[in-house]
Amino acid sequence: MAENPDKILNPEFGFKYTDLFDTHKLKDLHSAFLSYFEKADNEKYNEFKRYADSGGEGFTSLDISKTLIDSAPFLSSFIGKLFRIEAQLDKLFYETKYENDVLVFKKDFVQKEIWKKYKSAEPGNFDWDALSSFVNTLKEIAYNDYDFNKDEEKYTAKFVLELAELEKNYRWFYEGDKFAPENFEIPAKIKSRAEEIISSLKSKNLLTDAPDLDNLREILQQVKDWLFVKFFKDKNTKKWVSYFDPKKTDYDHLVEYSSPSPDIMDNPEDHFRQRDGFKLNDFPRTERQLLNQVDYCMYCHEREKDSCSKGLTDRMGTLQTNPLGNKLHGCPLEEKISEAHILRKEGLPLAAFSLIMIDNPMCPGTGHRICNFCMKGCIFQTL
Ligand code: SF4
Repeated sequence: MAENPDKILNPEFGFKYTDLFDTHKLKDLHSAFLSYFEKADNEKYNEFKRYADSGGEGFTSLDISKTLIDSAPFLSSFIGKLFRIEAQLDKLFYETKYENDVLVFKKDFVQKEIWKKYKSAEPGNFDWDALSSFVNTLKEIAYNDYDFNKDEEKYTAKFVLELAELEKNYRWFYEGDKFAPENFEIPAKIKSRAEEIISSLKSKNLLTDAPDLDNLREILQQVKDWLFVKFFKDKNTKKWVSYFDPKKTDYDHLVEYSSPSPDIMDNPEDHFRQRDGFKLNDFPRTERQLLNQVDYCMYCHEREKDSCSKGLTDRMGTLQTNPLGNKLHGCPLEEKISEAHILRKEGLPLAAFSLIMIDNPMCPGTGHRICNFCMKGCIFQTL
């Protein structure tokens, strides 16, 4: 049975569902939001009010972005309370935070320590069995509380990031580093954790009596080799966003195809999709894959370079054209894509959505990817 519409809204605000279709009541609802915002954060509210009252007069585009990014979370929480969807918003928030280890691991470790440094390495030159055995022992003795069966990528990210942190602290202390604070000391918690891991591995004859920094380096080296070879050996990692390695767009080879005979071009089998009416036939993205794209963004509005929204120009301000002759003018509606990405990354999808709706109020109706001018205009001309 359909839900009684009058039960959808939180009665605390004094609105009925039918009020949402009444322009006068919508004005009252807007005032209710403003009072909510004012009570929640007076400073941010005043800035928003100054912007709204001036119609943006005297605000730079950066000021506007900042004001909107600061305000949107309050709209999100207001809507969450009004529609009683706070639990769902909280769930999305915590799901986003859960993915953080994987995204940090991808950016700070896999991209810098694996893809850059193993560029010319050959997976066949490593002893995969020995590496796997070392890492399995390490996991058993130091990370047996991590549920690798449930989410191997997440817990791999966590343990590798911890090892990198231990090694960094020892390196800063023994060798110094431009980022190390003056008179840096290894925190007691880090020291005891490092000593625990080193002594357990020594007891299994997997490390020598070398200094602790050397042993930490040795552990990390084995883990790096293992991560590099794992990408080629373990087909499950094909789904890992940690190994995401974008490729430059090749305009002469935009689509993968095979030619079973000279007059036939065929889609690769794993890309084949049946068209069923007007239904979307994209492969559904996981939360992690979606956040990977958001994380890849450079939030260019901060440098006024968000070409996805404003168009890709050269230094003289001339609009660029791609090799297919498409003008890279970015989003025809100038949606606030970069700003929305910042909020989505923070785990606030409704706040992000509200920024998109400023320029594209019909977004809920038009849905996903009605055009791809933003993708074409992005600073990353990648696939
Ligand atoms: S141009 Fe690309 S990287 Fe820059 S803000 Fe837009 S989507 Fe993000």
